[in-house]
Amino acid sequence: MGFESIQGRGRAEDAACEVVRALQEAGHEAVFAGGCVRDQLIGLDAEDFDVATSATTEQVKAVFAHAYGVGESFGVNLVRRHGWPIQVATFRTEGPYSDHRRPDHVTFATIEEDAARRDFTINGMFWDPVKEVLIDFHDGAKDLEGGIIRAIGDPVARFDEDHLRMLRAVRFASRLQFEIEPQTASAIQANADQLASISRERIGDEIRRMLLGKSRARSADLLDELGLSTMVLGDDRGAPEGHRHLAALPSELDRIAYPKALASWAVDRGVGEISALVDQWRESLMLSNDDRSGLESILKLHRQILDNWQSLGVAAQKRLAVLPWFSAAVELVAVEEPELATEVRNRIAELASEGEMAPAAWLSGAVLIEAGFAPSPEFTRVIDSVYDAQLEGRIGSPEEALALARDLFEN
Ligand code: ATP
Ligand code: MG
Repeated sequence: MGFESIQGRGRAEDAACEVVRALQEAGHEAVFAGGCVRDQLIGLDAEDFDVATSATTEQVKAVFAHAYGVGESFGVNLVRRHGWPIQVATFRTEGPYSDHRRPDHVTFATIEEDAARRDFTINGMFWDPVKEVLIDFHDGAKDLEGGIIRAIGDPVARFDEDHLRMLRAVRFASRLQFEIEPQTASAIQANADQLASISRERIGDEIRRMLLGKSRARSADLLDELGLSTMVLGDDRGAPEGHRHLAALPSELDRIAYPKALASWAVDRGVGEISALVDQWRESLMLSNDDRSGLESILKLHRQILDNWQSLGVAAQKRLAVLPWFSAAVELVAVEEPELATEVRNRIAELASEGEMAPAAWLSGAVLIEAGFAPSPEFTRVIDSVYDAQLEGRIGSPEEALALARDLFEN
């Protein structure tokens, strides 16, 4: 089983193609749908291959014994093929959206109706990998060619049904470097206020995807242009000098670097009081604790470096430099004050070559107690001062550390 499953693990596309073929052989319509068709037509590697079919959930299960329902009320089954999970969804229309994010019910339908429920023309195409034909009811291929994001049907109604589509439009436009078709764009502007009614998790998730992608500065520009950023972030700062910090980030960021992208965006928009901004964004974007504290650390370090770096002593510089996110903060500084950033980097290299940046402290509470001092609130202050002296090289051994502590306690 192990060997065979590794050996049989071809490309996801081949696995999905086999799923389509099996459904067709059982007498059903079956095609690739949506994002994978779009990505393949423009030569991008599709992330996952979704299959759409005329077969009902029960009929899908009759073809694939191991299929299991993942959203059965929506007619979605997951079928595993050579280790690849393939979503198989029954053609459907979607009922009214009374909560503007999930249809109240779905109705099984024709392939044409299934195309009409999809958001944008470029996302509304199907590909039959067996017969090798494109099924394109809404001129998606033409818009793909022309670089256009256009809502399927009446844009105002489509954004009113599901407000999240406004953010999807921005994400696709920036990722593919497409333009949003004018009527689609004005429908977004007209509906922008409605964004507040969708869940913060969904907003946060879309924003994360935008900021981690390399077109993040364009996403931020579009959010401003379309009047969405106020709703997304819960503030109305704007970006007076453009998104130059976002634009300066390296093109690919991993998940870990999300706080760096957030901090860049915040600096572009003007930070003001750091804790107020961080609290606001945490709530608006449902940030995790790690992302929230990363954002806060970067913004604080960025400000400290800009305002104080030159006046800091050796110990204070070392203490800052060893903090997590320090280099991310220096990268932000480099956008507005490149000479200062270079100076900081050179200084750190110099300090690091002279000795460890964050050596183990010679003095601790335990050492003081061992030496006969009774624990007191003074301990922290003395231990900190002695560590500063160690970082600055004013003392050279644990014995000198203890001697300095004695002096400090006496005075
Ligand atoms: P990617 O996964 O690369 O972000 P995608 O187009 O595959 O892009 P998914 O969210 O995976 O996006 O959705 C798959 C397809 O389902 C879309 O291509 C689109 O046809 C349809 N779809 C997804 N979300 C919506 C929505 N909110 N409204 C209408 N159709 C949608
Ligand atoms: Mg997808």
